[in-house]
Amino acid sequence: MDSKVDSTAVKVAVRVRPLVQTEIARGCQEIVEVIPENEQVVLKSLDKAFTFNYVLGSNTEQDELYNRCVAPLLKSLFEGFNVTIFAYGQTGSGKTHSMGTAYCEGENVGVIPRAVHEIFSTVKDQFSFDFTITVSFVELYREILYDLMSEKSKEQCILEIREDLTKGIHIPNLTEIPVESAQQILDVLIKGSRGRATASTNMNATSSRSHSIFTVNLAMQHKVEKHQNRTAKLHLVDLAGSERPKKTGASGTTFKEGVDINKGLFVLGKVISALGDEKSQNNFVPYRDSNLTRLLKDSLGGNSVTLMIACISPADYNLEETLSTLRYADRARKI
Ligand code: ADP
Ligand code: MG
Repeated sequence: MDSKVDSTAVKVAVRVRPLVQTEIARGCQEIVEVIPENEQVVLKSLDKAFTFNYVLGSNTEQDELYNRCVAPLLKSLFEGFNVTIFAYGQTGSGKTHSMGTAYCEGENVGVIPRAVHEIFSTVKDQFSFDFTITVSFVELYREILYDLMSEKSKEQCILEIREDLTKGIHIPNLTEIPVESAQQILDVLIKGSRGRATASTNMNATSSRSHSIFTVNLAMQHKVEKHQNRTAKLHLVDLAGSERPKKTGASGTTFKEGVDINKGLFVLGKVISALGDEKSQNNFVPYRDSNLTRLLKDSLGGNSVTLMIACISPADYNLEETLSTLRYADRARKI
């Protein structure tokens, strides 16, 4: 197997979205500048610059995000690496837009529909393998895992994450849907997206307070040489908003939700940093500290490749959250 991929690689892309209508109406100024030739983001008002693997300015089209940052990872997927793509950022920063978790048609679709089409066109061109492809779609909301594809009611579709020596991480009763075309996968995506839990906040009435994880499982059976058989998983994760509760004016339950969600994001940050030191010593990676990281344990570090798409607003109004996102992304990149 070709293993040119740096198997513990975590790449970080920062994407700045254009000002949205509410920011324009507020009279917001743009305080984020990108220097594409240096892959740098500059916060003009603070005179701070950050460098990432990819920096995508506010005029970046969806196909550029896909072609530059995602397409190279699909090559690794077909070589048998697990691939995880996260969208991180405050509510309203462009996570769902970038991932394409909600819309699957038209020129402006995000990462997921593009990746799905590429997977099936690659499958069609691979004459030496037989493929079995299944998809699943789950949501983590306040540390509880829900099966978005279950036909059962919300209370009945709560899943457990188990771990044992032979199977590793597995989820009993998870709905895994066999698919034979890109369209079948996108139907799953649309159906599951409709079921996502959302709680309205001042930031964005339809903002999601949950993490959603869309997974494509590939089993590749070589037609002649059995030793060439391989499996790989592609996880596409639309993370919950990274903002602290006070910014959203949330109270009561929503405040509690904010606390729990930040715990998952916090642990993810710690896991990614710990993976960076993996080679230097027998470093402890705190996968078990949140369900998000338990769930993704076999797809973070080791035999896997990770892309974090950190989404930011260009507006002065969001400076504090933008700075916090850039710091989080910066820690992830120092690997
Ligand atoms: P999030 O999922 O992070 O809460 P959304 O993806 O829903 O944020 O984006 C918030 C709003 O900004 C939406 O109206 C979306 O269409 C718009 N938006 C986000 N990113 C872009 C972009 N790159 N170009 C144009 N509009 C965008
Ligand atoms: Mg969203």
